[in-house]
Amino acid sequence: MELGGLHHLTAVTGNPSLNVGFYTEVLGLRLVKKTVNQDDVGAYHLFYGDEIGHPGTEVTFFDWPFAGRTVRGPGTITTTSLRVPSRDALEWWAKRLSDFGVAHEGIAERAGRASISFADPEGQRLELVEDGGAPGGTPWIGATVPAEMGIKGLHAVHVAVTDPGPTSTLLTDVLGFRKAGTYRLADGAEAVVFDVGAGGPGTEVHLVPHHNGVRSRVGIGGVHHVAFRTPNDEEHAAWREKLAEAGVAVTGIINRFYFHSIYFREPGGVLFEIATDGPGFASDENPEHLGERLSLPPFLEDRRARIEAGLKPISPVKMATRT
Ligand code: ZN
Repeated sequence: MELGGLHHLTAVTGNPSLNVGFYTEVLGLRLVKKTVNQDDVGAYHLFYGDEIGHPGTEVTFFDWPFAGRTVRGPGTITTTSLRVPSRDALEWWAKRLSDFGVAHEGIAERAGRASISFADPEGQRLELVEDGGAPGGTPWIGATVPAEMGIKGLHAVHVAVTDPGPTSTLLTDVLGFRKAGTYRLADGAEAVVFDVGAGGPGTEVHLVPHHNGVRSRVGIGGVHHVAFRTPNDEEHAAWREKLAEAGVAVTGIINRFYFHSIYFREPGGVLFEIATDGPGFASDENPEHLGERLSLPPFLEDRRARIEAGLKPISPVKMATRT
């Protein structure tokens, strides 16, 4: 039994119209599902991904305008890395980001890969990383970005912790990750790269020691949790059992309709999830029309009128290029 790498990542936005504008128009992702936070139906839950939101390609957002700004530090995910297919693509992205006025410092080598660091309009820290053409998601042909340059999904998450020891033990001894390398951060600290399953792009957790003493919090511009892939319900249940046996406080299995989930906190405080690859986002919508209307799981469908009335309509902000 092995995890298949990253499944999705969920972050926080305070401005869904700006969020849709940036992630669809500038980054060229497809809005594959517009639904609500199942635990807080007054908030949108927006899912972006490849052509049909394959597992491993999804970046999702809770719309929490009153959450306050995130404070990055120990117990948070500080950077989300997304994959692009080649060095040429990375050069194309450097120009595109500049054209849209997105600040970045060009292409740099980090952890042995070429990458570009930048932030979304709410300060969400992102990175585009060349994945060497490894198999990944399939960019949507209807996107604003040519498919051969398109983002192929998640590459890695940077998990910041005060003491890497216990998190590292959970990753290797319980979750089956392997130590795949190390690199130096700008402040001189050493980041450790772990990977799982097939390894490489889409399977990495970078453990980053963080000692600045800030009281970190998750809010707008930050990441709420990261999910890892498991192929089916049998292995999902077995993961739950394995975590419980290892003394990890893990939730019961929750039916999220598009996948099934369990949640637990790693010892450093970051919320982890393990999610099944299926049923997927095309299970309740025609793949041609994903994300165009508000989708609700069957158990919320009878409350649709009330839920819709409680949501502010989204009108994607038009992203301007500098001329
Ligand atoms: Zn999740």
